Amino acid sequence: MQIRNVKYDVLDREFGDRLEKDKDLAAFFTLKMNTVAEYFFEPISIEDWRKVMSIVYEYDIPFLIVGGGSNIAVFQKRILGIVLRNRFISKSIEDESGQFVDLKLSSGYPMSMLVQETIDQGLSGFEYHYGLPGTLGGAIYMNSKWTRPLSYVSDSLLIATIMDRDGSVRKESRDYFDFAYDYSKLQDTGEIFLEGVFRLMKYDASELQKHAEEALRYRKDTQPFGVATGGCFFQNISQSEQEKYSLPTGSAGYLIDKAGLKGKRIGCFEVSKKHANFIINTGNGKAEDLRKLVNTVKSTVQQVYGIKLKEEVCFV
Ligand SMILES: Cc1cc2nc3c(=O)[nH]c(=O)nc-3n(C[C@H](O)[C@H](O)[C@H](O)COP(=O)(O)OP(=O)(O)OC[C@H]3O[C@@H](n4cnc5c(N)ncnc54)[C@H](O)[C@@H]3O)c2cc1C
Repeated sequence: MQIRNVKYDVLDREFGDRLEKDKDLAAFFTLKMNTVAEYFFEPISIEDWRKVMSIVYEYDIPFLIVGGGSNIAVFQKRILGIVLRNRFISKSIEDESGQFVDLKLSSGYPMSMLVQETIDQGLSGFEYHYGLPGTLGGAIYMNSKWTRPLSYVSDSLLIATIMDRDGSVRKESRDYFDFAYDYSKLQDTGEIFLEGVFRLMKYDASELQKHAEEALRYRKDTQPFGVATGGCFFQNISQSEQEKYSLPTGSAGYLIDKAGLKGKRIGCFEVSKKHANFIINTGNGKAEDLRKLVNTVKSTVQQVYGIKLKEEVCFV
């Protein structure tokens, strides 16, 4: 006899066929980890987010938010509760004055689309993020950046609409997020970034395209491209650590490379030969092999340099 699960019945009643069970998620993570979601739902509007989060909160259902899945390493074979893959995609002009255009952008907006569309519209602010995978929401949560020149996706954020875990919604200004290297306050509060108004500057579209292509060229020259990866796996070390250990750079990739780990392979997972801070899934990689490789990298760097690397990628 099948045991009925009341809390999931509520989700089922609310979302019907849109709620999926035992969903294979491998395609939704750029590291291509094999995993299954007990329940799976794709919110496409603020209303969906409101409804699903109020049920999740009321029935205490575990949940995981996935944007583009480009900064997540999954170790669980089966993710219990509900996986919410953000497909809330909308863009509109909120205001326009003089040199500036304020765009209201939803959190599920794919960064690749956003970058190209704003370039084509002659709006500066996102052009250096050409080639950044994922969604706007993931980029705000992670405070994603480009370093040549230093530019954060969050730079142009004016006002954000965020949701608490109980489904209540409020607005906050950019300051609220305490943005720092690989950090936004959402990582501590667990709040959800729903949408935001971003102030972009009118600029010559062909110049913007040039800047974007420079960034993409650098990316292709220095990073593995078109492979299964979660991007930079570890955070760079701080300026003070760099000085303490008299290192020429704070780059985690440099430390991993100099510790002799480039090309190190366990199962299908490999430390990229092109950029040592990228771990690649070369086939049907198993979670336990990824864990072993991550531990090997961390312990070797600690032995060689006395430095404890911290993961940039989120672990699930
Ligand atoms: C090839 C490659 C290149 C990369 N290059 C860069 C780079 O140049 N610079 C850089 O900074 N990063 C880079 N990354 C890392 C990654 O792409 C970014 O961190 C990206 O912005 C994550 O967005 P996402 O939508 O994929 O987030 P996901 O990986 O889906 O999620 C990351 C975290 O954010 C949370 N989250 C997602 N959406 C929301 C939301 N709306 N509200 C609250 N929490 C949310 C998730 O729960 C999870 O904890 C790269 C990754 C890859 C694979």
